[in-house]
Amino acid sequence: MTILEAIKQDHGALTAIRRDLHAHPELGYEEVRTSAIVADQLRALGLEVHTGIGRTGVVGVLRGQRCDSNRAIGLRADMDALPIAEANGFDHKSRHAGRMHGCGHDGHTTMLLGAARHLAATRAFDGTVVFIFQPGEEGHAGARAMIEDGLFIRFPVDAVFALHNWPSMPPGTVGLTRGPMMAGIDRFELTVEGVGGHGAHPHQANDPIIVASQLIAALQTIVSRNVNPLQSAVVSLHSLQAGAPSALSVIPAEVRMSGMVKWYAPAVQETLQRRLTDIAHGIGLAFGTTARLDYTALYPPTINTPIEAEAVMRVATRILGPEHVVQDLEPSMGSEDFAFMLRERPGAYFRLGQGGADGCFLHSPTYDFNDDVLPIGAAMFAGLVEDQMPL
Ligand SMILES: [Zn+2]
Ligand SMILES: [Zn+2]
Repeated sequence: MTILEAIKQDHGALTAIRRDLHAHPELGYEEVRTSAIVADQLRALGLEVHTGIGRTGVVGVLRGQRCDSNRAIGLRADMDALPIAEANGFDHKSRHAGRMHGCGHDGHTTMLLGAARHLAATRAFDGTVVFIFQPGEEGHAGARAMIEDGLFIRFPVDAVFALHNWPSMPPGTVGLTRGPMMAGIDRFELTVEGVGGHGAHPHQANDPIIVASQLIAALQTIVSRNVNPLQSAVVSLHSLQAGAPSALSVIPAEVRMSGMVKWYAPAVQETLQRRLTDIAHGIGLAFGTTARLDYTALYPPTINTPIEAEAVMRVATRILGPEHVVQDLEPSMGSEDFAFMLRERPGAYFRLGQGGADGCFLHSPTYDFNDDVLPIGAAMFAGLVEDQMPL
């Protein structure tokens, strides 16, 4: 029996776990119920279990039939949900108002549990598996929190792997690259301080809205005129707040803006931050105002290492057939905090196609994880262990 056939026998139990998690979504660092379920499952399988790593993170350790190789492999799943009000009507819809598993992390957690269930029963590998259930992927840097809590010092691994479901790829396909997968992301805030006054007497004020409008236009020159055209970068503003909509003849004293930048190369990140700083300072000065930049680095880019990416391709080809493996996936300008783990250890991040009806895209209120692919993701994780640490 193949790994996939064996895990398919567990499909009913995995579906029940997934739907229970879906019905009880928890936001970043609030995954108390979820991590308790994960820890209980792992303990019942006989794994060594460690909780409270990165606040609500859980680590399970499983040793193979042999441990002569001295190798260890990390497998990671994220557990958190999103602050979205679910618009689905099925029985397992969210029971928590305003919270929803809109990114399929319920599926990721279940697939990693599925791999643990299979590997604990067979232990057909020579080495150690570290199952990493991380909190707060959705903007909370839960991977970094676990690393800062000593994840890779307490549980050293030679390589680490993770996946993300992907609705726009057909179910049962795997896609990845041998290098860049997801971009780095940083956040910025711009505050323009002028002088408020009467709209009919603008000469007595110093209008920060005019300054903000110059800034908005100038920021768009960073990608078009400062970044090497052969490199990737995005500068986007997401928020602009000035004055009160009901105010008549009032020039506000302050404008606040926020946005984010995306990048792959550290040199591009440096250019983006430097130009944002210079443009804000220069335009603020030109108009006799101050324009202050607050810049926060968030997630680094997610970059696969070629050897580990090849391992994913090899295992996917074996389990799914070569026609279901995309080896030259187009990198995305989205971001992913598995990047922090790939900065520490070799490894690979891959997409698992799950298909879906119209509107079933990530972070949409009508999204749902496709339970059909649960055994496939679990088999990918288990297959990677047996590939990386053969008996
Ligand atoms: Zn997400
Ligand atoms: Zn996600």
